[in-house]
Parts: sequence; C-alpha cells; structure tokens
Amino acid sequence: MKNSHIPIAKPIIGRDVRRAVNKVLRSGNLTQGPEVLAFEREFSLLVNERECVAVNSGTSALHLALLSLGIGAGDEVIVPSFTFAATANSVALTGAKPVFVDIDINTYNIDPNLIEKAITPNTKAIQVVHLYGLPADMIRIVEIAKRHKLLIIEDAAQAHNALINGQPAGTFGDAAAFSFYPTKNMTSGEGGMIVFKDKEPARLARLYRNQGMEKRYQNEIVGFNLRMTDIHAAIGRTQLKHLLKWNKKRQDNAMTLSSQLQNVITPVIPSGFSHVFHQYTIRVPKNRDTFSDKLSKAGVGNSVYYPTQVHKLPSFSSALSLPQTQLATETVLSLPVHPSLTKRDLKRIANTVNSLIREV
Ligand SMILES: *Cc1c(COP(=O)(O)O)cnc(C)c1O
Repeated sequence: MKNSHIPIAKPIIGRDVRRAVNKVLRSGNLTQGPEVLAFEREFSLLVNERECVAVNSGTSALHLALLSLGIGAGDEVIVPSFTFAATANSVALTGAKPVFVDIDINTYNIDPNLIEKAITPNTKAIQVVHLYGLPADMIRIVEIAKRHKLLIIEDAAQAHNALINGQPAGTFGDAAAFSFYPTKNMTSGEGGMIVFKDKEPARLARLYRNQGMEKRYQNEIVGFNLRMTDIHAAIGRTQLKHLLKWNKKRQDNAMTLSSQLQNVITPVIPSGFSHVFHQYTIRVPKNRDTFSDKLSKAGVGNSVYYPTQVHKLPSFSSALSLPQTQLATETVLSLPVHPSLTKRDLKRIANTVNSLIREV
C-alpha cells in the first residue's frame, strides 16, 4: 500500500446514507417532499435559523438567490474573478453584468480595498465568495454595502459552517448559496441550499424553483424546475450529521500539513476567522505545473483551483487586468486535506512536497 494514490477528494458514503436512500425509495415519494422540508429545517440551524430553500445545485442556488433579490438586466454585480465560473455565470444568466474585482493574495478572497472603485450608479450587489472555506472579510464588506445601499450575496459553496468571530458564513448578507456537490465538505449527490435574511425573497425562490407556483396549477410567476429530490435530501440530511466532525478533521489535517511543509506558502487564517478547508491550498513560487506533475507521479493527488481567471475565459473574454488574481492562477496548488486521510497519508504528503519542491 506504500505507493497507493492519495486522492485530492473522497466523499464519505456510509451505511447510514444507503439506509436513508432506501427508506425514500420504499416510500415511493421520489421528488421534492418531506425529506426536502426536513433538510431545509435542519440546515437552517447552521445559519442562525435563516430561511432555507433547497434546490438541485449550488449554481441554481446562486441563480435563484440573485433573481429572488430582483437582480436583472441593467444591473451590475461585483464579483471576484478567482473562483469557480458559476459565481459569474449566475450573475450573467440573470441578465446582469458581473464586474470583476481583484483578490487579496494572502486570503484569495475579494480585496475589500478595491470594491468601492468598482461601484457605479448601476451596481446593485456584491457577490462575495468564501474561497477554499475561508470567509471573505465580511466585516468590511458589510460596511461598504451599507454605505452604498448594495445587496450582498454570499457564494458559500465551499464554506459550510466557516465562521467569523463565531458568526457563520451565509448569515452576513441578504442571501447565500451553499453547494452539496460530492467534493464539498458535505454532499447530497448534487444539490444546493439558498439562505435568505428575509421571508419575501425566500417565497420568490420557492416559486422560481417550481414553475412559479406554490399551489398546484396556480402559477404566479414564470419559473423553472430546479427542485431537489427527496433522495438527494435524504443523503444531505445524513451527511449534515457528520459535518462538524468532518470539518474539525479537515482543520486538524491542515494544521498538521502547515506545521510540516517547507519552502511553499501555506494558508493564512486571519485572527477571529474559522477556515473549514474545503481546499488546503499552497502557493508554489515557481514551476507550479512541473511540481504538480511530479507530485501526481509520486501518488499525491493535487489540483489547481483555478487555472484561469474567470474574466479571461472565452465566456467572458475581458481585457481587464487583475494582477493578484493572475498571480494566484499561476502559483496555487491544492493538496489533499479531506477527512479520510490517515496520519501516514499526511506524513507522506508533507515529505513528498518537501523533497520534490527542491527539484523545481
Ligand atoms: C461548487 C461551487 C459552485 C457551484 O456549485 P454546484 O453545486 O457544483 O452547482 C459555485 N461556486 C463555488 C465557489 C463552488 O465551489
């Protein structure tokens, strides 16, 4: 087993998940039903009992959060460019324009010092990302949003129960979106959760989710079918029970790696912040891609999140220059940090990094 491959991510699907899914299959209720309602109620305990609306993906959660807050054509929404494309796609799909702002290279999150320069009379919202599981600087961002009367949407797809001074990600803005994609800190297969500060946009999101109707065949608005199924909700409910324990394991693994890695830049955790390490991401000062290949050949899974600035993708093709975002795309590398790693795995990851980094 010495040279087995250590994967970058590994969802934990236990017998409890199989039991929960079987129970739904036996019930005959396969689409959105009582399991979805229970999942929404249970997830709300993670976000100070805010209104929760379950949907079929994190991307749908972002899209409906924006639509339900009234964002659309003619509006501008400030977003980081160092993120998964869904952050900007969801804005563009409402008809609004994503306005890209650079990051703070130390935290990889949107740089609050650069937000005000990007505000125009058309700016309606700031959509922040809590990248890799570290919350963005919400204290400063909430202040800026108040001053300019802007909405805040939190892309919390990677930040289940990440905290700032004890306050959970997803409770700082007007709305937030979580993802339950298999590699995230908890999964439902595919799935997402929208979290709202207020009741009315939550009601709208429930309408958008299901053809614009609350009561059957009484369609109030034009809507989608973005429902979560009871099968997925049952997986999500089971996973939720393990979330805090798994987050703690990720944090312990991250501390172990940071104490052992040499000659690479390890993650920063600002004081008062709790990082849930969806990814453990280092910076490799030079020849990152060669280093990544060598690590893979040595059996240490690794991946670049993200190799391309979102505003430079063919889908946005912007000429804008964001130097810190560019630096991040050229130097970051994520290492395994998931809860299934053993002490031996961690030791092997650290030893392999420390020995191969001298070769590049
Ligand atoms: C995973 C992710 C999403 C999208 O979630 P899906 O469930 O895959 O649709 C959005 N934003 C970020 C930052 C993500 O990591």
